[in-house]
Amino acid sequence: MFKMSQRDDFSRTYGYADTALTQIKRNELPAYPRNYEVWYAYSAGYNHALNKAINEVLRARGKVSPDDFQRIYNEFVAPTRISDKLEEVGDRIADEISQVVGMIEDSIDTTSSFAGTLDSANTKLGGATDREGITRIIEELILATKQAEQSNRTLESQLVESRRQIAELHENLEAIRYESLTDELTTLANRKHFDKSIERAIAQSEVTHEAFSLMMTDIDHFKKFNDTFGHQTGDQVLRLVALAVKQNVKGQDVACRYGGEEFAVILPKTNLRQAMAVAEHIREAVMAKELVKRSTGENLGRITISIGVSTWRPGDTPQSMIERADTCLYAAKRGGRNCVKTESDADVAAVASSMKVA
Ligand code: GH3
Ligand code: MG
Ligand code: MG
Repeated sequence: MFKMSQRDDFSRTYGYADTALTQIKRNELPAYPRNYEVWYAYSAGYNHALNKAINEVLRARGKVSPDDFQRIYNEFVAPTRISDKLEEVGDRIADEISQVVGMIEDSIDTTSSFAGTLDSANTKLGGATDREGITRIIEELILATKQAEQSNRTLESQLVESRRQIAELHENLEAIRYESLTDELTTLANRKHFDKSIERAIAQSEVTHEAFSLMMTDIDHFKKFNDTFGHQTGDQVLRLVALAVKQNVKGQDVACRYGGEEFAVILPKTNLRQAMAVAEHIREAVMAKELVKRSTGENLGRITISIGVSTWRPGDTPQSMIERADTCLYAAKRGGRNCVKTESDADVAAVASSMKVA
């Protein structure tokens, strides 16, 4: 089933790529990666605002000029790009740091000039002979102290403002970090997060020898669903399945969108039997949902998922755990779908050995 999904992605994405290149040529734009990115998004059609903006330009002028292109990129693509956001926050952090460094330098200057004033007052006091002379020196000292106090107060309020800005930038960075590890459609962890998490879980079990399990799920006959109701309705179903996964896992479990319509859950401190119970809950939660199209109220029936579960063995790598969970998933599909298979099921062993022969 993974091979089939790859072939599907292959023809769909090459279709978008062809259209993107045709558009770049037609609009006589250089084939820079950025231009390709915009036209690819246009062909795939998932960024409605972008398509609307391009269509308006095409309607008015027949062609997208480099200036139009830059404006559209800045308005509709750049704000969603993590690298662009990171660049902006990075620039602001650099500005803030140079301001704080400037303040520290000012403060050093003020302090050393105040120390100079104190020094010279000291010398003058040694040579002072009359009351008037002493009064003058004291007045100078009071003035210098007031100035130093004033400049300290300014510095303090500037530092308070900097602290506020840095806290805000810190939050921005956290948000970008969260975004870079999150799947946009489902808000589950993305593949990058999955890769990191499974590495970490394996490393931890190598040390503690605690059980941990991996669940791979795949929606049943999803291609048919998409073909019948359209890709956008399919995307809504992906959100729904993601929600069912999320609602049935606990705090330390990591629920991820592994690929198109495939979800993975990393279950630390969970043995095969416990993982099987979680998988059953998810499977039942998905099949319990009656799908209703929001815009029309049309009843779309129900969907089901198949799940494969593997559990950690000493010496495992992410790859070996994923492969075993995949074999179980394949057995679940062969066993009629809408079911959970684990490594301890007899028919999984049969599937595994038939796969080796093939
Ligand atoms: P099976 O029961 O064997 O899993 O059948 P299937 O049709 O679900 O087969 P497969 O798992 O290979 O399905 C892949 C299909 O999932 C292809 C595509 O139509 C759909 N799909 C993959 N990614 C997305 C996505 O991001 N959005 C939507 N709407 N559909 C997707
Ligand atoms: Mg699939
Ligand atoms: Mg499927």
